[in-house]
Amino acid sequence: MTRSYDLVVIGAGSGGVRAARVAANLGASVAIIEDYRVGGTCVIRGCVPKKLYVYASRFADMFEIAGSFGWTVEASFDWATLVANKQREIDRLEKAYTAGLEGSGVEIIRDRGTIAGPNSVRLRDAGETLEAKTILISTGGHPSKPAIPGAELGITSNEAFDLKTLPHSILIEGGGYVAVEFATIFAGLGVKTTLVYRGERILRGFDDDLRTGMEAGMQMRGIQFIYGTTICGLSQAGQDVSVTLSNDVVAPYGAVMFATGRAPNIHGLGLETAGVALTETGAIAVDAYSRTSCPSIYAVGDVTGRIALTPVAIREGQAFAETVFNNTPTAVDHSLVGTAVFGEPEAAAVGLTEHDAACAHKDIDVYLARFRPMINTLSQRSERMVMKLVTLPDGGRVIGCHILGPGAAEIVQMAAIPMAMKADKADFDRAIAMHPTAAEELVTFKAPSCRYRGGIRQ
Ligand code: NDP
Repeated sequence: MTRSYDLVVIGAGSGGVRAARVAANLGASVAIIEDYRVGGTCVIRGCVPKKLYVYASRFADMFEIAGSFGWTVEASFDWATLVANKQREIDRLEKAYTAGLEGSGVEIIRDRGTIAGPNSVRLRDAGETLEAKTILISTGGHPSKPAIPGAELGITSNEAFDLKTLPHSILIEGGGYVAVEFATIFAGLGVKTTLVYRGERILRGFDDDLRTGMEAGMQMRGIQFIYGTTICGLSQAGQDVSVTLSNDVVAPYGAVMFATGRAPNIHGLGLETAGVALTETGAIAVDAYSRTSCPSIYAVGDVTGRIALTPVAIREGQAFAETVFNNTPTAVDHSLVGTAVFGEPEAAAVGLTEHDAACAHKDIDVYLARFRPMINTLSQRSERMVMKLVTLPDGGRVIGCHILGPGAAEIVQMAAIPMAMKADKADFDRAIAMHPTAAEELVTFKAPSCRYRGGIRQ
């Protein structure tokens, strides 16, 4: 007999798991299909292990300034210990995710699901077809490599977490989140690290002060930059990988990593059998309620090509379940999403950059502070923290918050709350500063550092 469900979810990552649990808690019969590990990219080979490795890499900084506080530290690092401990934590989290699903009554099916029609999903290994009133696609994305000769010799973030040994040197291509974070990790762990990027400066789309500050901080930690250049080809050269760059330089590296973006996982999903349409970039096209062009099929998370961030996928999964199983149509507001780059220094932002705000609103005020974080003041370390607020003119609404330095993500997460409440500068100023902190800068700005009127910087 055909098994049938109110909801069949394909992909047990952040978005799919949230949707499945909420739908089941609302009384729906739910199955979730996963052919790899429960938890998705974020838990298994993304945000979580990445942050653990960033913590590992940051000890290098702490050891460097330890002497200024009177400490003498003799440090050595063991990669295998980090990998094994990371693995244990990921295993624990995967079990917690699995238990959470089962506790909500979700049936976990270990197989590969393919859409076989608007209301049916085919299981590849079991050879069985499930019936579903609603299907949710939450298959996420995968790292994409440029189509160049020898690309198979380069790794991606998928492999980087579990390298057998650390390479003596690494060339990372890209200028986005993954490139910056992994350059931080490898450099902090002692690997000679070079970043090659086709553009002029890393972190395109972030505020310029964060971009230049991040670049300076990474350079200070020994990371080399090659701009306006791409990798044209890779070949094996003994234990090393020989890299040919577009500037005609040929050089060997211990490893090469592509951090050149991610692509939606749609291959072999059978979307055509249900007439599910794609966007121009090859993601699944959805409306504000995450519904695809096939009314019984929805999609959330990275596979939809909206904002590829875990908390956004989770929010989309929740909204989908509210819409379909709680009779409460819920659209996710994608307009004010905070984001962090866990490089060293750390960068975080919510709202508009100075440039985008000036283009969009013409009249804005910018409050900027640059200072040495207190932890560096006893050492020779000259690195500056950057705190920036962008507001509508004359104490108006706060429309951008950009921070570079220790704790940036934690601070911006909190600043995102008043900003979502449409707080203006006076609301920020009403808070009494906590001293000594870095975050107190956000509530003690007196006069703007600069103003834009009619889109022109005054
Ligand atoms: P990003 O889109 O952030 O960056 C990709 C980089 O690769 C860009 O600098 C891009 O250049 C460059 N690039 C793209 N295609 C090519 C090519 N063919 N040749 C050379 N360079 C190329 O992708 P990531 O892989 O870094 O991260 C993927 C997504 O995952 C992010 O968008 C983010 O949403 C999410 N993520 C979030 C994290 C977090 O929240 N901390 C951490 C990691 C990932 P250009 O700038 O010119 O387009």
